[in-house]
Amino acid sequence: MIILDGFGVANERNKKLNQHILEHIQKGNRRPHLSIILIGENPASLSYVKGKGKACEVAGIDHKLHHLPDDVTFNEVLSLIQSLNKNPNVDGMILQLPIPKHLDENTLIDAISKDKDADGFHVINQGNLYQKKPTIQPATPKGIMTLLAHYNISISGLDAVIVGRSNIVGFPVARLLMDQGATITVCHRQTKDLASHTRKADLLVVASGKPHLVTKDMIKPGAIIIDVGVNRVDGKLVGDVDFEGAKEVASYITPVPRGVGPMTINALLENTYELYLKHI
Ligand code: NAP
Repeated sequence: MIILDGFGVANERNKKLNQHILEHIQKGNRRPHLSIILIGENPASLSYVKGKGKACEVAGIDHKLHHLPDDVTFNEVLSLIQSLNKNPNVDGMILQLPIPKHLDENTLIDAISKDKDADGFHVINQGNLYQKKPTIQPATPKGIMTLLAHYNISISGLDAVIVGRSNIVGFPVARLLMDQGATITVCHRQTKDLASHTRKADLLVVASGKPHLVTKDMIKPGAIIIDVGVNRVDGKLVGDVDFEGAKEVASYITPVPRGVGPMTINALLENTYELYLKHI
């Protein structure tokens, strides 16, 4: 069994990005810039934002945190997004999710210019993805694909099962895996017998947000396991897969933490760099 070291791979890629950025600086260009909008005091979001800032420093990307209070109005957030859209020194921006319920998440995400959409969530960027056109890909699915490619895992012909159908993880990762030749099953809460599907998976991606939803008995021996979940249980971070059991049967597996999380951040930075190249 091989542990897919998302932390190590992401760190290497962030350092490589730094080298590319230095070349642009030497030519007299400015650094790339990522603006992060955070609303409220959600401890998980605060920690993700901190991680994103640290990775920006490794990659040499300027970053600014716009930290807004919980009771900020929709118009206040919208006007911040609009001013960042207009700022020629901002290459990418993200709205850290989740946001408070009184704010309309989809409208705010689509208010971000598609040319500054570092998370790849904008409706046009997602539309391009589904039509197989070049686009800014959503960060977590892109990070997962990069990690699989790093370990030379060939997707073509695999039976891939994805647990979760969200717009930011499950659905787009299904699309990307299908594009690379996997045969896809997408499971969700209405799926009748989850284990009957997961047991058939050569490649199993779990993005349910349910700690230890997938146990050893639900995994086909030799399967590749990508655990996207990040859950805090008794003060400890755990995934959606029972890692200790799963590692006894899997061929490859991502740990939680230090698996998909750092790859998501690396993909966010690579997206920011891609947008920067279009802007300079
Ligand atoms: P989400 O929007 O809540 O979606 C969860 C999906 O899982 C839904 O499609 C849901 O089905 C499905 N699901 C929930 N319980 C299930 C069950 N018992 N059986 C089968 N399907 C079930 O979550 P998300 O944003 O996709 O995130 C998923 C997890 O990944 C969370 O733990 C999140 O924190 C984590 N995450 C991690 C990263 C990272 O970088 N590591 C990035 C993003 C998200 P329905 O559609 O039927 O409701």
